[in-house]
Amino acid sequence: MALMSFDPTRAAGLETLADFVPRAGRAYAAERNTDRGPGDRANVSTLSPWVRHRLITEREVVEAVLERHSLEAAGKFVQEVYWRTYWKGWLELRPSVWSRYRSGLAPALDGLSPADRATYDAAIAGRTGIEGFDDWARELLELGYLHNHARMWFASIWIFTLGLPWQLGADHFLRHLLDGDPASNTLSWRWVAGLQTVGKTYLATTQNIEFATEGRFRPTGLATEAPAVSDDAPVPPPAAPPTPAPLPRGRVGLLLHEDDLHAESLAESLAAAGSEVVAVAAPTAGEERSPLAPIAPLVGRFTAHALVDGRDRAVSAFGAPADALDGLTASALIGWARAHELTAIVTPFAPVGPTRDRLDAAARGLADEGLSLTPVLREWDARAWPHATRGFFPFRERIPALLREQGIGRQAR
Ligand SMILES: Cc1cc2nc3c(=O)[nH]c(=O)nc-3n(C[C@H](O)[C@H](O)[C@H](O)COP(=O)(O)OP(=O)(O)OC[C@H]3O[C@@H](n4cnc5c(N)ncnc54)[C@H](O)[C@@H]3O)c2cc1C
Repeated sequence: MALMSFDPTRAAGLETLADFVPRAGRAYAAERNTDRGPGDRANVSTLSPWVRHRLITEREVVEAVLERHSLEAAGKFVQEVYWRTYWKGWLELRPSVWSRYRSGLAPALDGLSPADRATYDAAIAGRTGIEGFDDWARELLELGYLHNHARMWFASIWIFTLGLPWQLGADHFLRHLLDGDPASNTLSWRWVAGLQTVGKTYLATTQNIEFATEGRFRPTGLATEAPAVSDDAPVPPPAAPPTPAPLPRGRVGLLLHEDDLHAESLAESLAAAGSEVVAVAAPTAGEERSPLAPIAPLVGRFTAHALVDGRDRAVSAFGAPADALDGLTASALIGWARAHELTAIVTPFAPVGPTRDRLDAAARGLADEGLSLTPVLREWDARAWPHATRGFFPFRERIPALLREQGIGRQAR
């Protein structure tokens, strides 16, 4: 059985995309819900580790698919890509949902009874005795990837059968998934728990697991009810979406981070604004995904190599040298700016999450020195996020218009 592997380079992401494109039409819509196991992932794209870090962008993925298929045939796949965009936009408009999740992690761990602590330890190690669940727990540790349905079943069993706090499951996923993403992960766990669509939970059943794994697993003893988890904090009303900031003129440093590693596609807008990139840096920050524990070594290696890949491509695209910085901190950035006589630092926009928290803290320190850290917002996000005010279904209605506005797909031309 050939297990998939994820090479943290743009070249490998593009190869995976090219291989998948022929299957992105009706075949994907018909078969994507089946989890045949790690030896056969042909019915899904497995693109998420690359897309999450924007080694390849959502735009490129959708463009490639719509070059080959009509929007009607590949509508399901395009919608799935837009789920990522929707979740990011939803969290961007309600950042307190992220900060509340983060601050609830330590109390959730400390509040476990000794019996629950034992269940938690067994769950993350794949030793609960629940068929399927234990296999997915080990698959996650070994490969850093799970099929979407395995993620749903795992989260549902974690919350409703094992009775563990959803936040601890989300934290475990975020630290072990190569595609671990603050928005998609936190909000998907909230959705399973009944917090996202209030009162609507996801119950994993023996029948569904047996059917969708083609009989590989038939777990018994699963919860038969999924009462929504209660939450005393109502979701705040959506804030105003971010708008593109004016880009600085003159000598700028390009700061890369794990949330967006395709800086070369920002070259045109930077040049048009008169931003001259004279230095590039890509310090690591991936270890910040959780306040409870470090990220898994597999994830750390993937992210570190992805940063090198993104940095090297930026060096050739902008013809500027790369510098090693001592972390993503204000003091490191100030020293860097002085060394190159930068007028400003530009960075791809980081959505709500640990990277953004770091960048915001660094921006405050830079401002004290009269330096700006300017985020470059992509058109893909700037157009879509303002529509993430309600549920996915009204958002989904906007997809054809969003594609048209950006000239993506055969129908748009
Ligand atoms: C509990 C739970 C936790 C999750 N955590 C993450 C996470 O940390 N990071 C992450 O990227 N996805 C997460 N997902 C969403 C989804 O499971 C993965 O994006 C998908 O399984 C990735 O595999 P793929 O690339 O083969 O997907 P495909 O089915 O091939 O989909 C194509 C692309 O669409 C996007 N996509 C598909 N489904 C979703 C979805 N439900 N939400 C958001 N984007 C989607 C991804 O970019 C994916 O690469 C989670 C889902 C659940 C239920």
